[in-house]
Amino acid sequence: MGKLFVISGSSGVGKGTVIKEFLKRNPEFKLSVSCTTRNPREGEIDGINYFFLTKEEFKKHIDNNDFLEWAEFSGNMYGTQKTYVERKLSEGKNLILEIDTKGALNVKKILPDTTLIFILPPSFEELEARLRGRHTESEEAIQKRLSSTKLELENSKLFDYEVINDSIENAVNALEKIMCN
Ligand code: 5GP
Repeated sequence: MGKLFVISGSSGVGKGTVIKEFLKRNPEFKLSVSCTTRNPREGEIDGINYFFLTKEEFKKHIDNNDFLEWAEFSGNMYGTQKTYVERKLSEGKNLILEIDTKGALNVKKILPDTTLIFILPPSFEELEARLRGRHTESEEAIQKRLSSTKLELENSKLFDYEVINDSIENAVNALEKIMCN
């Protein structure tokens, strides 16, 4: 059986980049593919980045109790399929879920052997600067992200590990210490 890990972190913390680098160095790990009702962004491929579903299809999965956990963010639904996780783990793959902290705690309730890891920015001033540096969002959207960061931090107190993303190299090394042994 493979091992299950959840990696969460506030938006703008650079977790996507850290996970990508970790996967490059550790090919025996696989990033889980979630289902979502949001539209694909440019370059995203169905079955690779997400399984893109209609709202009706997603709701059917909820009714059938197919999700290990699911959540809604800004009007879109996201969920992790139970059968997908079970299949990958039974194939012996170590699986990483990149989901929010609430989803992470729900997974841990159902599968207590799951390791929960929270990625932190070196400082919150820096996180705010990073979010603003993207220049892609309104002030209102940025404020919303900052307040959801507070909630994420509160939930992360129940996580198993914290990793500070002060540099990609340091963060990947820290993940390897936790996840590879
Ligand atoms: P995005 O739309 O930017 O790809 O993802 C938005 C948020 O949804 C991210 O914080 C991501 O971690 C979260 N997310 C993606 N898949 C899942 C999932 O299966 N479950 C939960 N709870 N969150 C997810």
